[in-house]
Amino acid sequence: MTASGSVTLVGGGPGSAELMTAAAFDALAHADVVLYDRLAPHDRLADWAPRALLVDVGKQPGHHAVAQPEIERMLVRHALDGSRVVRLKGGDSYVFGRGGEEVLACREAGVPVRVIPGVSSATAVPAAAGIPLTHRGISHLFTVVSGHAPLSDDEHRHLAGLGGTIVVLMGAGTLPTLSAGLAKHGLDARTPVAVIERGHTPGQRTTIAELADIVTVAATAGVSSPAVIVIGDVVRLAWQGDASAARRLTDAVELVQP
Ligand code: SAH
Repeated sequence: MTASGSVTLVGGGPGSAELMTAAAFDALAHADVVLYDRLAPHDRLADWAPRALLVDVGKQPGHHAVAQPEIERMLVRHALDGSRVVRLKGGDSYVFGRGGEEVLACREAGVPVRVIPGVSSATAVPAAAGIPLTHRGISHLFTVVSGHAPLSDDEHRHLAGLGGTIVVLMGAGTLPTLSAGLAKHGLDARTPVAVIERGHTPGQRTTIAELADIVTVAATAGVSSPAVIVIGDVVRLAWQGDASAARRLTDAVELVQP
């Protein structure tokens, strides 16, 4: 069976409509059905996709509002019915976004599918806090890891040995395991760590402390998902040349050691 409809996976960026691409708006404008996630920009979807049926399949951390296989069935079913379906996701669909699974489901069903890249929170959220992931002489690599499940001891060892910058998505809950694992395998206890919550939204907040203190400082601040964690010396660049911001790290340390 050949579908007359199609599926377009659209990366919606980290939350602000300003960071959506022209291609994203174009796909939405022509959509008949939009299946969207909680982290995708969606407050003005009715304006962006005026003809479309809007379906919230959003996931809260730890909960799946609509299970992944059901989302895939919905995409395929609407497309086989002849609809132009947009699957709107947070960030980029191919960065911890299960985009690959949805593309495969469409291909298996003979549904034409394309992917419009999005601005990933992995790079855009650190940038919102003034943190460059690479910097000449400080870091020439960055590793993006999922903190959804705790890493193994081996993974902590490899990560600690890599050098460069570590970026963690979905890591608010596993920060204690991660920081203990990295410290155990020799990452300097004074390495600065930044936790950036709700990047590119009005509620953005950055919490900074050294590796040895970050768990306590983050708990005191009550950090919660969604947050991107950046570990590495590049974090210091966020406040370089800014005396008031430079005090943040000292203040955070005093917060745990009054
Ligand atoms: N595909 C997405 C990532 C999905 S995993 C992307 O490319 O950005 C979900 C995780 O992304 C969250 O747990 C959090 O770590 C991160 N994230 C997404 N949007 C965010 C935001 N606005 N602020 C902070 N973290 C965000």
